[in-house]
This record gives sequence, structure tokens and C-alpha cells, in this order.
Amino acid sequence: MLEIVHYPHPALRWKSKPIQRIDAELRKTVEEMFELMYEFKGIGLAANQVALPYRLFIVNPTGDPDENDQEIVFINPEISRRKGSIEGEEGCLSLPDVYGQVRRANDIVVDAFDLSGQSFQYTLDDLPGRVVQHEYDHIDGVMFFDRMQPEGLEEIQTKIDDFEHLFRQSQQSGETPADDELKKQLKTLEH
Ligand code: ZN
Repeated sequence: MLEIVHYPHPALRWKSKPIQRIDAELRKTVEEMFELMYEFKGIGLAANQVALPYRLFIVNPTGDPDENDQEIVFINPEISRRKGSIEGEEGCLSLPDVYGQVRRANDIVVDAFDLSGQSFQYTLDDLPGRVVQHEYDHIDGVMFFDRMQPEGLEEIQTKIDDFEHLFRQSQQSGETPADDELKKQLKTLEH
């Protein structure tokens, strides 16, 4: 059973490897990721956020499970063009209830593969463009607050520190494995 990991789980600092094979197991993973994303009211979720070191993320900009025609699965995505720049608010399911202003490209072109192995290309802006850039960062081990301006970051630093503290506490109590063990698990899961 997959679960969403919180910062500073090492999976969130992992540069994930391309997916080599699209099979039934991967389709099952994607299905579970959509369930988790909707359960926690997200509009995007990356494999790193469920502690899987894959270059994969899912998006539904509506966040509404009834609008499943808006679901997009990005496998081995590449952002090939970034144009313009715009600031907007972002949050993250791996850092619940923490929000900050992040500058992103206004327009992007993204290439990826879908679950049937078919390649596709989207030109995106507005919210879908922002979500894709946020999720793309996750598969490179980058958090949204890494891209915040110092003033904004300062405002949320205490909340980030609280998550750090909670995570270390749960490791000390033995509830969560130590970083070395978690990294070993991630290494094993790489294709
Ligand atoms: Zn996120």
C-alpha cells in the first residue's frame, strides 16, 4: 500500500531514474497514486512523493475525481521549452498546509509517454503549466520552497522546521527507518 511521504523523507531529495517498462504493476501504482491524490485534495502527485524513484507523475488540475477525463499520466517527461515567467502560490502534499509564492515559466512544452507507451506533447500555461513544473521538480528531488525568494521562505521556515522535527522524532522512535535504510530501499526500487 502506497502512502504519501512528508518532507524531509529522502525520497523527496532523490533524482529519479527513467522508467524502463510499463506493465500491470506500474498501472496499479498509478491507480493508487490517483486515489491518494484525490483523498488528500491534491492536483498533482509525483512518484517520489510515494517513495518510488521513478520519473513519473500524475496531474488532474481540477482535483475532482469525477472529472477523470482531466487526468494526465506523465512517464519519463521532459520539459523542452520554458518561456516567460510568472509568480504564483504553491503548496505540496508532502508539506501539508504550507504555501509559498514560486516563480515559474509562464509557458512550457512537455514531452512524455502515457500508460500505453505512446508519446505525447503538451503546450501548457496557467495552472496546468505550474503543476507540471512543480511535479517535474519532484522527480529531480527539488521542493517548491527551494525556488522561493528569501523573504517568502523566511515566513514559512518555522513550519518547514516543524516537519523536519516531526520526521526525525518518528525516526528516533523507530516508527520510520533511518535515512540510510530509506535510501537503501530507494536504491533497490530503481530499475
Ligand atoms: Zn509537491
